[in-house]
Amino acid sequence: MTRRVAIVGGGISGLALAEAIERKSAGEPIEAVVLEAEATAGGKIKSRREEGFVVDDGPHGFLDKEPLVFDLIDRLGLRGDLISANEAAARRYIVRAGALREVPTSPPKFLTSDILPLTGKLRVLFEPFARGRPDGDESVWSFAARRIGRQAADVLVDAMVTGIYGGDPKQLSLASAFPRMREIEDQYGSLIKAQIRIAKEKKQLPARAGQPAGTMHSFKDGLGQLTTALANRVTVRTGFVADRIEKGERFRVHGSGEPVDADAVVLAIPAPATASLLGPHAPAIAEVAGAVPYAPIAVVVHGFDASAAPALDGFGFLAPHVEARPILGSIWASSVFPEQVPAFTLMFRTMVGGARNAALARGTDEEIRDHVRAELAALCGLDRDTPPRLERIIRWADAIPQYEIGHAARVAAVDALEQEVPGLFVTGNAYRGVALLTCVADAERVAGRVVEALARA
Ligand SMILES: Cc1cc2nc3c(=O)[nH]c(=O)nc-3n(C[C@H](O)[C@H](O)[C@H](O)COP(=O)(O)OP(=O)(O)OC[C@H]3O[C@@H](n4cnc5c(N)ncnc54)[C@H](O)[C@@H]3O)c2cc1C
Repeated sequence: MTRRVAIVGGGISGLALAEAIERKSAGEPIEAVVLEAEATAGGKIKSRREEGFVVDDGPHGFLDKEPLVFDLIDRLGLRGDLISANEAAARRYIVRAGALREVPTSPPKFLTSDILPLTGKLRVLFEPFARGRPDGDESVWSFAARRIGRQAADVLVDAMVTGIYGGDPKQLSLASAFPRMREIEDQYGSLIKAQIRIAKEKKQLPARAGQPAGTMHSFKDGLGQLTTALANRVTVRTGFVADRIEKGERFRVHGSGEPVDADAVVLAIPAPATASLLGPHAPAIAEVAGAVPYAPIAVVVHGFDASAAPALDGFGFLAPHVEARPILGSIWASSVFPEQVPAFTLMFRTMVGGARNAALARGTDEEIRDHVRAELAALCGLDRDTPPRLERIIRWADAIPQYEIGHAARVAAVDALEQEVPGLFVTGNAYRGVALLTCVADAERVAGRVVEALARA
């Protein structure tokens, strides 16, 4: 008899999981059915072309750090549509004292740059002599302040955390949010020493060079090509909001429409929804696993004629919290992926909100639009009187999960589920990584566990 796995949630995690389960179970077929609440699958990943501009509602690209994703792209026949960031995108900027400064990419450039005051730069050089790690879960900011000094923590590390999590480095756990940084400290004893050693070893270790690294990729028509191709490859039932799981000899997933019977169930949904479905079966686990906080973000997409601003030649910029700007930063999408915009145009993807400015993400459209236009004028020289060819505001109330201090206990709780309720699993971006890459990697890991569990049953 063909066994069935019901996967609740049709974002990249649930879709990649379905593909991986069916592939791994090739000898003894397992049918995977994705149950998705919305009318289309994809979750945070959705793209469309409007007025000739590719609009990505959520993520905009992924780095080439995870071979599993490229294998998936090949299996889906999408290699021909893959695009890589323009070389100019290697230039990144940070807002300092109200203006954009280029992020230096080499030690000599760092020493001569004005990204930090002289005392801040000298303190960074003392990094190899930093005191050792305190016991327990350390915040990203404490780690950075301890190793490279408060000024670099407030500017460089704050900007990195803003760019990835829209988060507060004083709340995020280093071990959970940037595990590689902690590994580097353990392995090399110093970030500077590690950089030197890794640069030497680069040929052998191209994908292990710290964060962020590598080249950004997307597809001609946006990241949605990946989720659309996956949704066409696997079985998806859309418009199904799962609201209860019944456990007898098999599982039965109840929701809007006919219930679905299955031999295993995987939850690939945000943490609060995971907690409510787990509650009746594993209340203690549900309570811990459900407590992951989220930061809201509004993505503002603007398309302009090229004449509206000076040329954009870089990835874009981030605004550290100390600068007190009303935006988190802006990606110069037309510079990163010129294939995604009409000729002679500019495209900005500006982020508003995050963990420390949540109220701004909840402002009215007019407030958000005014903040963004004023910031792009002040920082990028955008002419405020030029009307945009395209202006879209996409709101995410639960944009990015925040891996705060204590997050490891939440991961341990979902791991314990397998023992407490055999046949019930959890994946998704709430626990082991927020990037699309880590979602695919976790889906692959969980697919292995599911296939193994069904083989044992
Ligand atoms: C603005 C923004 C920018 C980002 N930028 C990047 C980036 O550039 N690069 C990158 O790698 N990552 C980025 N990310 C992160 C990345 O997009 C997400 O981590 C990833 O897409 C999450 O996938 P997921 O499948 O785990 O969750 P989701 O995409 O949230 O999918 C969960 C799905 O479950 C469904 N669902 C929820 N409850 C139920 C229910 N009860 N029954 C049935 N279905 C249900 C939802 O409708 C949804 O489709 C960004 C995220 C945001 C919001």
